[in-house]
Amino acid sequence: MTELYSAFINCLYPKKKYCLLCGSRDSRLLCKNCASTIEFIQERKCLKCGKGLLDEYDENICIDCKVSNFTFHSAYSSFYYRGTGKKLIHKLKYEGKKEIAKILADYMFDIVRKENLKADIIVPVPLHKNKLEMRGFNQSNIMGQHLSKYMNLPIWPSLIRTKDTKAQYNLDKFVRKLNVSNAFSMDLLYNVINKRILLVDDVFTTGNTVEECSKVLKKSGAADIYVVTAASGINT
Ligand SMILES: [Zn+2]
Ligand SMILES: [Zn+2]
Repeated sequence: MTELYSAFINCLYPKKKYCLLCGSRDSRLLCKNCASTIEFIQERKCLKCGKGLLDEYDENICIDCKVSNFTFHSAYSSFYYRGTGKKLIHKLKYEGKKEIAKILADYMFDIVRKENLKADIIVPVPLHKNKLEMRGFNQSNIMGQHLSKYMNLPIWPSLIRTKDTKAQYNLDKFVRKLNVSNAFSMDLLYNVINKRILLVDDVFTTGNTVEECSKVLKKSGAADIYVVTAASGINT
């Protein structure tokens, strides 16, 4: 009865919805205009890390990946971490607009389908408990939950962030690597032996964070690890 009543009220007084970014009235959380300004990675991508490759670069693996020799099988992201895409992630992380996680997960699911990624479990990149307490939620976990529904796969929060690392974006490359080294450990409640893993995070910058997670998962016996992030930095 209450459901019927609220449906009736909604019909009489439809809830006003506004675009989370520009504030214009729209039935979606992100209006068409704003969505159209997201810079999706469409050009040739690095086969390992998924970052867009410059036209003049004629190899399939970027220089960063050649040097890094990443443990994960491959990484994919939807859009560049700039402009509208960056704003979305900032609103989610720093303004607590959790609804944005679903928008991002939708984009990430497009990639999963396009690349035909097959996994057994979804693992979100964890936050340290101090940061989790401060923010109140882990954005990667929420995105992972949506993907878990879409893909009909279990989500296992099997990694623990043991080091309260500094924000990565304002650190140089070398310090970034040190910052996250040995920052993760395994929650032994989970057995990842021979499991193919979809590792979920918000942004792929140098790849150090997901690489550290991948190392821990591999050490625990995981099979191939596929990384999916909403955004990635510009390749250099
Ligand atoms: Zn808008
Ligand atoms: Zn690469």
